[in-house]
This record gives sequence, structure tokens and C-alpha cells, in this order.
Amino acid sequence: MQTPDSRDAATRKWHLPTEAMDELVRLLRDDGYTVIAPTVVDDVIMLRPVTAAQQIARGLRDQQEPGRYRLEKGDPDLYFEHVVGPDSPKRYFFPPEQKLVSLRIEGDRFVTEGGPAPPKLAFIGVRPCEVAAIRIQDRVFGLDPAPGSFPCEADAYYCEARRQALLVAVNCTRPGGACFCGSWDTGPAVSDGYDLAMTELKGGFVVSAGSDRGADLVERLPARAPSPAELELETLKLNVAREHMGRHLETDGLKELLDASVDHPVWDDVADRCLACTNCTMVCPTCFCSTVSDSNDLATGEVTRTRMWESCFTDEFSYAGGESVRSSIRAKYRQWMRHKLDTWWDQFDTSGCVGCGRCITWCPVGIDLTEESAKIRANPPAAAESGVAR
Ligand code: SF4
Ligand code: SF4
Repeated sequence: MQTPDSRDAATRKWHLPTEAMDELVRLLRDDGYTVIAPTVVDDVIMLRPVTAAQQIARGLRDQQEPGRYRLEKGDPDLYFEHVVGPDSPKRYFFPPEQKLVSLRIEGDRFVTEGGPAPPKLAFIGVRPCEVAAIRIQDRVFGLDPAPGSFPCEADAYYCEARRQALLVAVNCTRPGGACFCGSWDTGPAVSDGYDLAMTELKGGFVVSAGSDRGADLVERLPARAPSPAELELETLKLNVAREHMGRHLETDGLKELLDASVDHPVWDDVADRCLACTNCTMVCPTCFCSTVSDSNDLATGEVTRTRMWESCFTDEFSYAGGESVRSSIRAKYRQWMRHKLDTWWDQFDTSGCVGCGRCITWCPVGIDLTEESAKIRANPPAAAESGVAR
């Protein structure tokens, strides 16, 4: 998080050679961090713990389109030609499955045991849209509630994991086919909420610090002042990236448009294709729904309460008063898309979408919320709703 006394550091830039990546990992580990970085798992970019720079995905670029993801060879010298994979830092701050508490009987008393303490995490290669998503979840989980909004109860694990975490962001110079961070201004360059931000050039990185912690880190690395040509190249690459977003979402007046489109026929059209598979919610870096499950170990008698990710696409999640309140796929998709782009503003005073494109790439039938929004805009409610049954 940026602090007032970090402003001087934020105006400074450095050049870090590519080979310094190994030292960056080592320094972070020496400082007690578990280092998380993009790696390749099952032919997909996944954020996983690394102990050395050679474990970080390198020389790879991704092809992403609705319902399609492929990794292919890229420039072997570059670390970050690929963009985001299906998972995000969310998995580490808000784990997919997490023990909350266990209870057992010892002698004549109950013994309770809480869940694990969060590790001290340092992320390398977090994208600007992911930093934006983290800041949205800071609101959701009560670390940084918006004034006048309705945050969920503060989540102790999340807040502690976030307070400890160090973010080394990487600006995007090659947006993916499903990316539209430019539409939300959440990329391709990170603007806030990071410790270090790196823009990769051939042979090294232009680095800026967003916090004193980040400045301290870079001062311990073999960094030098960047040349005017390197700074100019950084600006050029980011400008080119801005102009080459895979997709675009028109955000002006989008909330009002969707507020007025509850009965739009686009929801029926989506319902014919959507499988209610939950993929879009599982990969979204801001989705935060969860459920709890209690299990009983018959051998030891220990009872454990576990929190797991849930999805607004399941019948169980919306089960209330004896039935699911959103039983049709039409209602489920509408709830999800309107929450992301519309009602999230009412709840958290921000969009619930950062334009990462994951829900588009990982939808097995290629449903694309930018396309569905454009269809509504092209056929706005007054015309669209005539003759549509409620
Ligand atoms: S709604 Fe889709 S594009 Fe937006 S943040 Fe979630 S996964 Fe990314
Ligand atoms: S929109 Fe796509 S990813 Fe989401 S539930 Fe429907 S089929 Fe699955």
C-alpha cells in the first residue's frame, strides 16, 4: 500500500538486469517471504511458490480467446510475454478451501483449534488488473471498506495475509486476446497498491517503487539509473499495449443501462448457451462467495468446519426459504453479470470487474460479458423490453 512518505520513492525509477530476477527471489526468501510467481502447471500459467528464478515461467506467450487458452513458445529472454492464467492472488488471500475451526473432546473438556495462520507472501509478476482486483477484495473483506458501503464482516485471515504481502507487479506490454483492462483503466500499467512495478524490456526491467518497502528492496539489488532511451521505450511499449487490448467494454453509463435491463432478451439468449458450470466465478479474481461445511472424523471424533469457494451459479448457493431463489440459468447469469458490472457499485462503491478476461477465456462455451453488454447497448431496454414477459 502506498504511504505518504513513499511518494519520493514512487517518482524514482531504476533499471534492473534480467539476471537479477534470481537475486530478487533470494532476497525475498531471506526476508522470510514465501515467493509466489507465474509457473507452468498442466500447460497453463499458474501462480505457485518458487524457490529460484528458473522456476518462473519464461519464454512463453499465451493465446486467449473465448473458450480457448494455449501456451506457445515466445522470446526465450523474456519472462512476462504471457498474461494471466486461470488463478490469481485471490487463491492465497482467500483460499479455495480453508479450515476455520475444529473441535474435539479431550478428557472432560472441549478443545477448539483455529485455522492456520496466513504465510508471509511476496508475489512476483502480479498484473495491474490483479492488483486492482486485490484492492477490490480489500473492500469486500473489510481491510479497506469504502465509506458508506456495506462490507462483509472483516475477514481476519484475509486482512492479515494482505497486510504482510509484498507485491512486485509487472506492467503488461502484450495484452491477451480476452483482456480489457484498458476499459476500466486498471491496466496495462499499475497505478497504485504495489510495492515494486516492473516493465520488461529486452535485457532487463524498468522498475518503479510504490512503497518504501519496495524502494528498500530495489536498493539491495544490482539496479542502476535507467537511460532516457529505456524510459522512452517503456512509455512506448505501454502506449502500444493500451492500443492493443483484446477486447473493449463500454463502461460509460453501463450501471444505469444494466439497472434498466432486468428483462432484456439477452438473458434468454445467454441461458440457451450457459452451462451453469461455475467456471466464470471460480476464475474471477474478485468473486468472493463461499460456503461452510462441517465434517466429522469418526475415528477421532474431531469435528471440522471448512470454508470453500461457492458460486452464484449453483442451486444450493441461492437456496433460501425452501427453494432456490435463482433456479433458472437466465436468472443465474443475469445475477452474476449484473453483480460484476452494476450492483457491485451499490455494495462496494467500485466495479466488480477489472477486465482480466478470465471469465471469457475459461467459459467452456465462450460467453463473453463484453459482447453481451454490447448487445444490450445496441438494443437498449425501452425497445428491447416491449413484448417481453416478466
Ligand atoms: S468479471 Fe471476468 S473480466 Fe471481470 S474481473 Fe471477473 S473474470 Fe475478470
Ligand atoms: S457463463 Fe460460461 S463459465 Fe459461466 S457458468 Fe455459464 S458456461 Fe460456465
